[in-house]
Amino acid sequence: MLRFLGLLLAFIFFVPVIRMVMGLIGRAFVNFTLGQKPTAPQRAPGTPPPAPAGGMLHRDPVCGTYVSESVAVKLNAKGQTHYFCSEGCRNKFA
Ligand SMILES: [Zn+2]
Repeated sequence: MLRFLGLLLAFIFFVPVIRMVMGLIGRAFVNFTLGQKPTAPQRAPGTPPPAPAGGMLHRDPVCGTYVSESVAVKLNAKGQTHYFCSEGCRNKFA
């Protein structure tokens, strides 16, 4: 009976350890197999990034960066609105 209890205790102690080790091995295996899969296609250089929800994209005429209308630095000149990625670009333009 005492031996049975000892086995039971050992079982109770080892099951979580074994489960944890198996989980780690399983996760490492999943990471390994996922790592072999090709990742999402890279955007070709020079193409504008997908439009964020924050508004239309405008091209910064100074550095060529596409900026969202909601975050762009704006400049009104001769009835036209120009959009810049930063005040530095706006100052260069003006
Ligand atoms: Zn810029």
